[in-house]
Amino acid sequence: MQIKRYLQFWNSLLKNQKLIDQHYKSIYEIDYQQLREYHDLVIFDYDDTLTCMHGDLPDATLTLLKHIQSLGFKVGVVSNCMYARFLKLQKVFSKLDIFISPNRNKPSPEGFINVSEHYAIPLNKAVSIGDRLGTECYGSSLAGVKTIYLIDKYSTMFKCNTSFPPLNWLDKLERRIYFGNDK
Ligand SMILES: [Mg+2]
Repeated sequence: MQIKRYLQFWNSLLKNQKLIDQHYKSIYEIDYQQLREYHDLVIFDYDDTLTCMHGDLPDATLTLLKHIQSLGFKVGVVSNCMYARFLKLQKVFSKLDIFISPNRNKPSPEGFINVSEHYAIPLNKAVSIGDRLGTECYGSSLAGVKTIYLIDKYSTMFKCNTSFPPLNWLDKLERRIYFGNDK
């Protein structure tokens, strides 16, 4: 995580700046067919977005990724995972014809720019989907991604391995401030 950018995120959060276009329960609820009208690229976060924290890709997600590609989208992944895990994920994703950015310092915009350059698709044709306001949503907005979706944590939705408690607490705090106390 890039701390300087993350502190900038808090500044924008406290100023009530708009960050996301839509909030969904999970990646499975999104209408990708409809998104296809104005987008050519889908960029996902990995942990707690496509699967549980530190999980492998479940069959439902593999099916979904293939469906998204069949609609004509290119798919990219930007994750703050450790380097050893990045190498593992790179192997998995290369078989699926999905590019995972080697840049792992969200909320820096670099990973999103990297995916855009890899596919030669501008970010004003991209949608970004992730479970953290302060990392992928803010990083996407800095990068100029057209559409930004926040989803609930995969681990909360599907009752599986989650991130360590201080990070979950921080995530809840970010959401509480962003959405107001009613959410
Ligand atoms: Mg995540």
